[in-house]
Amino acid sequence: MEMINGKYKIRIPCPDDIKGCGVCHYAWLDEDAYNQVHDCYYDTYKFKPNETTVAQTYNMLPKEIPNKAKEWGWHDTEVRDEIYAWMKERSVIIDPLEWERIKRERRK
Ligand SMILES: [Zn+2]
Repeated sequence: MEMINGKYKIRIPCPDDIKGCGVCHYAWLDEDAYNQVHDCYYDTYKFKPNETTVAQTYNMLPKEIPNKAKEWGWHDTEVRDEIYAWMKERSVIIDPLEWERIKRERRK
C-alpha cells in the first residue's frame, strides 16, 4: 500500500459497479483514519480487514463521523465510539476478494 503526502492510496472496486471497468479507482485515506477504521473493524468483526475493505468501510461512514474526526482527531474516544456503534448496527462490509480468501481459509 502506497503512502503519498501522509495518505494511503488504496485500490477499490468500481464505485459504479461497471463490470470490466477499465478505470483504476482509488480511495485516499489519512493514516489515522485508516488505523482507526481498521482497529474498530477488527474489534467488531474479529478478523482483520484488507486495505480495500478498510477503504470501502471508510467511504460508507455517516458524514458526521469524519466531520467530527476533522475537529477532534480520529483517535478521539467519542469518534471511536461512534464508529463502533455504527459498525455494530450493520452487516459486515467486505471486499469480495477478501471474502473468498476467508472462505478458503475456513475450509482448511
Ligand atoms: Zn469504474
